Amino acid sequence: LKAEKQATVAIVKGADPRASAKQVVELLGGMKKFVKPNDFVLIKPNIVSPAPPGRPPEDVVTDPQLVAALVEQCLEAGARKVMVGDNPGLGFSSRVIYEETSYEEPIREAGGEMSYFTEEPLVKLKVPGGHLTREARVPKIFTEADVFLNIPKMKTNSMSGGVTLGMKNLVGVPPFEDRPEWHRWPEIHYHLVDLLKLCKPALTIIDGIIAMEGRGPMAGPAIRMDVVIGGPDTVAVDAVGAEIMGFEPMEIPSIQVAEREDMGVADLNRIDVVGTPISEVQKRFMRPIGPVIHPSPNVKVYPGGACYGCQVWISMVPNPFEVKPDKKYVLITGQRPRVPDQLEADEIWVLGKCADPYAKKWEKRGHEVHSVPYCPPHAWITDNILRPTIAGRDKMEMLYTKE
Ligand code: SF4
Repeated sequence: LKAEKQATVAIVKGADPRASAKQVVELLGGMKKFVKPNDFVLIKPNIVSPAPPGRPPEDVVTDPQLVAALVEQCLEAGARKVMVGDNPGLGFSSRVIYEETSYEEPIREAGGEMSYFTEEPLVKLKVPGGHLTREARVPKIFTEADVFLNIPKMKTNSMSGGVTLGMKNLVGVPPFEDRPEWHRWPEIHYHLVDLLKLCKPALTIIDGIIAMEGRGPMAGPAIRMDVVIGGPDTVAVDAVGAEIMGFEPMEIPSIQVAEREDMGVADLNRIDVVGTPISEVQKRFMRPIGPVIHPSPNVKVYPGGACYGCQVWISMVPNPFEVKPDKKYVLITGQRPRVPDQLEADEIWVLGKCADPYAKKWEKRGHEVHSVPYCPPHAWITDNILRPTIAGRDKMEMLYTKE
C-alpha cells in the first residue's frame, strides 16, 4: 500500500547557499505562497555564538548568504519589511555576535534589517496547547511580524538528543536568561515542541552546506554536506534532516514528542520529498554524546550514577584548557559514586548536586575541593567554562554584555 503523503520537503544539493536556498523555495511553490504583499517577515537563523578560536563562523552559524537570498525572495514576493535576528547562546549579546559572524552586511545588501533580540523589549505570550511551557517571554518584534521563517544550521547536539535542526533553532526566540529553567533532559524535548506551538514557522529551511558533526553545536568538526532542506512542516523537515545525518528520525526525542502531539509528520513514508533524493546527500554523522573520560589523563573520574545532565560535562570539568600537566585531579559526580577511601589528588572537583555531599567529606580531610552544586550544572558550565573558552579570555568582557 502506498502511504498518503501529508507533508512536502524539498532537498537541493549544491555548494552555493544562495542558489540552493532559492531552489528549495521554488520547489515548494515559490515565496509568494508563504509571504503576501505588505507582510512584515521575521527571519530567525542560528546565530548562536562566535566560532571557537581558529574556526570560521560558517562552521557554527547559519550562512548569512543563504539568509540574504531568502530576504531577497521575501522582498520580491512583496514583503514591506524583512528583519533578521536571534538570541545568541552562552549569554552573548546579539549586536556583538552579528559583528563577529559578519551577519550585518549581506542582510543589509539584500534589503533586510537586523533585529537585536537581546536589546528588544520582552513580552509574555501564552503558548497555545503548551504541554509544560504555558507562557514564554519573546522579543516584542516577534509579535509584530506577519510571517516567521525558521532557518537552522545542520549540526549535532547532545542536549537535544542528537541533532539541532528546526525545532531546536526555536530556542533562540525566548531570551537566554529563560533557558536554564527547562534546559534539562528530558524536559527540553517537550519544551522544543511547545516552542513550535508558539512560533509556528511558515517555513523551516536547514542550512546544511557546511554542517557540524560530533561534539556539536559548537565544538565538533565541520562536515561538508552541500545540502539545503526546507518545507512548511518543521517536524517533517527535521525528520528528513535527521535521516540525511544518518539518524533514524524517531531516535530524536523532540521528533517523538512532536509526532505524539500531532505537530507534524515524522514518518518518512508520508513525506513527499521533492528535488534531490535523500540517498544522494546522506552521510552518517559522528554522534555528539560526550566521552565519559576526561581528555587529560591526569584527571581520574568517579562517575557514580550520573544522569545525562552531569554526564555530558565529564570531559569539561575541570576545564581541560586549565589542567596543569604536573598536578593530579579527581572528578566525582553522579548519584552514590564509588570512591576509594584514600584519594591522591591536588584538586578534587565535585560536579552536580547529587555528588555534593562528597565535597564536604573531602574538604574535611584537608583536600582542595571545587564544588559545582547544581542540578543540572549547565548554567555554571556555560558561565565558567564554555563562554570563556569559546570567546577566549581576552575577548570575554567585550562579548558578554548583560542587558
Ligand atoms: S546533579 Fe542533577 S544532573 Fe547531575 S547527576 Fe544528579 S540528577 Fe543528574
